[in-house]
Amino acid sequence: MNQNRTSAYSFFNCIEKNFDKAARFLSIEKGLLEQIKACNAVFRIHFPVKIGKEIKVIEAYRVQHSHHKLPCKGGIRYSIKVNQDEVMTLAALMTYKCAIVDVPFGGAKGGIKIDPQTISSENIEKITRRYTSELIKKNFIGPGIDVPAPDYGTGEREMSWIFDTFLSLRSGDVDALACVTGKPVSQGGVRGRKEATGLGVFYGIRELCHVKEEMDFVGLDLGLIGKKIIIQGLGNVGYHAATFFHEAGAIIIALAEREGAIYNEKGLNVSKVFLHLKNTGSILNFPEAKNIENTEKALELECDILIPAALENVIHRNNANRIKAKIIGEAANGPITPEADEILEKKGVIIVPDIYLNAGGVTVSYFEWLKNLSHVRYGRMEKKFSENMNAELLQVIETICNKKISKEEKKIILRGPREIDLIRSGLEDTMINGFHKIRDLKKSSKIENMRTAAFVLAINKIIDSYEKLGIFP
Ligand code: NAD
Repeated sequence: MNQNRTSAYSFFNCIEKNFDKAARFLSIEKGLLEQIKACNAVFRIHFPVKIGKEIKVIEAYRVQHSHHKLPCKGGIRYSIKVNQDEVMTLAALMTYKCAIVDVPFGGAKGGIKIDPQTISSENIEKITRRYTSELIKKNFIGPGIDVPAPDYGTGEREMSWIFDTFLSLRSGDVDALACVTGKPVSQGGVRGRKEATGLGVFYGIRELCHVKEEMDFVGLDLGLIGKKIIIQGLGNVGYHAATFFHEAGAIIIALAEREGAIYNEKGLNVSKVFLHLKNTGSILNFPEAKNIENTEKALELECDILIPAALENVIHRNNANRIKAKIIGEAANGPITPEADEILEKKGVIIVPDIYLNAGGVTVSYFEWLKNLSHVRYGRMEKKFSENMNAELLQVIETICNKKISKEEKKIILRGPREIDLIRSGLEDTMINGFHKIRDLKKSSKIENMRTAAFVLAINKIIDSYEKLGIFP
């Protein structure tokens, strides 16, 4: 099946190919590998929605890739390009992603084939609510069954509607809040979810840039300061990643959106660009940058790190040879086709794979789910206790040293953990651990690249689950 002009493989085949490369490093029974690869359940539906005076038939999906752990977990995408192959692939990626970052879920994904930019918010709400009720009817949503989250084209607003629809049809379910993550904080969301994927991307790349051996391999200095970065897609993931890189002293030299890209060798101020985008509806004509009309060309500019954070298959056999980045961080799902992967590997580019790098979203979604099930905000029980303990400790230190600590220093030292502090520390720890587990495995098993090592790590963990679970006779 050739679904796109840029690759000989369908999107799902691309994942299978990566999986098979990793399977070479494992001696596992073929049947079990086939079971791990296959999508366990595919729900495809058409439903009518009245838009204005017309009835429109909407095509939608929910795919549960793996039931080895429940609930299943994965975002919902609104895009006119949504199709079964794409949703199946994204669901599969979720399974491997969850395994890598020790999130105890099976992978899932949903999609509705609409262009949200051309539909009013009232009609998006109607479609979202109808989709949710179809998922409920077929038992494809629920705190212990399948828990959606935001993805391309969706955000907090849609997650709120999903929760509200679920609650109205499952009234009295005390755990209803945990049926979906990525909700606004006022609706049971967790602080730090919105920026989690972008922050996870930042943590992952920062970790790589602090490994001397890796930086020597691509001829770069240690650390993020001064690194030249290009980001494609200024949506949820791209915008937050850009902000964190900018704040850490990296130089964002180009940003690419649908309508074109902007470039400034000396660096772009991300928040100013975002303000310009909000005010004018486009990143183009930003006063401190040059326009690049063909947005794809931005990927080919000279830089240290390229972060595709929009959609799949954007780096393919036709442009891979022209990519000049030394490191590519896959913030989007599946931005590099298998053909491009091979070309880039030969060129010595380090690719930090999506199944690890964009796992920050599902990690914090997991924290949100735990919060919803425990019905208490993170930090609520221990914040004041920690502050009191810190105050007593400080007093003892001041007495012993016979020295007073300044008010400002005290404020920093005494502070107990707030929800956002705990979420970010959990995310940082997860991303750092994930990076080193992949890298250690790559080195110890002499695996050629991070993607294959990440797949080996994920498959091993899933196999372990199946072995402990047994196969139902
Ligand atoms: P989003 O809808 O918030 O943003 C996507 C952005 O990409 C939009 O601004 C859009 O205009 C832009 N875009 C679309 N086509 C483009 C093109 N051809 N060139 C340049 N820009 C283009 O979506 P998002 O949530 O940021 O997701 C982006 C990617 O990250 C997707 O692949 C998604 O699956 C993946 N992802 C998202 C999350 C999450 O938490 N949202 C988690 C993991 C992975």
